[in-house]
Amino acid sequence: MTSAPTLPAGLLIGGDRVNESSGGTHSHIYPATGQPNAAVPLAGAAEIDRAVASAWDAHREWMSLTVDRRRDLLIDLADAVHENLDELARLNVHDYAVPITFAGTAVLLERFLRYFAGYVDKPHGASTPVDWSFDVNLIEREPYGVVGVITPWNGALAVTASCVAPALAAGNAVLLKPSELAPLASLRFGELCTQVGLPAGLVNVVPAGPEGGEALVRHPGIRKIHFTGGDATARKVLQSAAVNLTPVVAELGGKSANIVFDDADLDAAAMLSAHQGPLMQSGQSCACASRVLVHESVYDAFVEKFVGIVEASTIGDPLDPAVVFGPVISQSAVDRILGVIDEAVATGAGDLLAGGKRLGGELAQGFYLQPTVFGDVDNASALAQSETFGPVVSVMRFRDEAEAVRIANDTPYGLNAFVQTKDLGRAHRVARRLEAGSVWINKFSDISPGGPYGGYKQSGFGRTGGLEGLQEFLQIKNIRIAM
Ligand code: NAD
Repeated sequence: MTSAPTLPAGLLIGGDRVNESSGGTHSHIYPATGQPNAAVPLAGAAEIDRAVASAWDAHREWMSLTVDRRRDLLIDLADAVHENLDELARLNVHDYAVPITFAGTAVLLERFLRYFAGYVDKPHGASTPVDWSFDVNLIEREPYGVVGVITPWNGALAVTASCVAPALAAGNAVLLKPSELAPLASLRFGELCTQVGLPAGLVNVVPAGPEGGEALVRHPGIRKIHFTGGDATARKVLQSAAVNLTPVVAELGGKSANIVFDDADLDAAAMLSAHQGPLMQSGQSCACASRVLVHESVYDAFVEKFVGIVEASTIGDPLDPAVVFGPVISQSAVDRILGVIDEAVATGAGDLLAGGKRLGGELAQGFYLQPTVFGDVDNASALAQSETFGPVVSVMRFRDEAEAVRIANDTPYGLNAFVQTKDLGRAHRVARRLEAGSVWINKFSDISPGGPYGGYKQSGFGRTGGLEGLQEFLQIKNIRIAM
């Protein structure tokens, strides 16, 4: 097992690295070894205040540049990210021990920056006539000024990519608040922003826990919050945002269904279900398909293939390119997930088909669990209804299309849904009936800058990506001109 080096952390405010902070220091643990690898200063209210002031100065400077200059600077930033992809991916591994094969999502940062750089110089306004006069309404879209982007520890870089790129393209400055559990790659991204010549303070990076996060949300200088995380935290964020009536986008969790019809390519469906399920960041992704619904006529054949792939997965050192399955984030996550598994067994929620235990041997010091599969799960059980956020997947049977859709929609969440079928008509029909912000047909959840992403129901509101994602960072002004 490669031990993680000791890595520098800090806050980035106004282009300067700040190593002492009023929020205290978090001892960051590398989940693959259970050992500390960084001391992370946490932003408190004082640093949030400083960062907001510096961001407003940077926003004014940003908007004083011509649109082509702003576009070119974002392209320069995408180039800098491209040149540093390897380093960003490795820092992402040190952040939360995600396998390096998956940390390649650092490339999303580059893709989102290039895509949204293309929007900087495009007109977003319109004009409409006034019915009873010759006046004109000139409808313009303007940046909010300074926005707060709060990211989760899982997929910190992917979320940074999908939020910071459109926020800057729209003309805002950003306070980027990564989780104290995964701040390292985001801090390096913040340094690149300064290095390529963005105004100092345009992207301030302020790692913090709940206290610093709350100070950010309550700050009157923050004009919009883009929050990604769990639904319990979202409720607190909405309460804090109510103080100044600050608008919020909420990208939350899921309990996504993956429907395998009898005409699907079963080998491909089993592979997709394993890598979109327990193996995807050890089940620690909002996008995970944690419920696999299989037509009864192919259930046994599917389960054999699926369990075979899950059990054959290479588990180990996240920096080893052959490894696809790493540890979960912390000891408390290990305890919580084992608790979910034990309760599912005790209550007969389903049949334990694979996994269910902590891994020992040379992995014993890290937070490694076996990828775990339950079969014939009752969709009403806690196992099927709550976001486990660990490598645990429920498989269940359905008889026909209508039953598949009913089970898929029967959770409080509505983030993703997956459909495996060769029948294009059925794919369309089912996709339209699924209560989910994204439906993936015979496809992994491979997010792209042009595709709006977000939730239905308790998976949140608002979108990242595409024109819809850009508009989250713009507010509308109508200028009426007398003619
Ligand atoms: P979390 O809710 O614990 O934390 C999210 C962020 O909120 C962190 O930066 C945290 O420090 C901050 N925070 C905590 N308390 C706060 C407060 N009172 N005020 C302001 N900020 C506060 O979530 P997590 O464990 O970091 O991430 C996992 C969750 O995120 C899962 O539910 C997952 O599904 C979800 N997620 C959703 C998406 C999406 O795009 N929909 C993407 C990734 C993760």
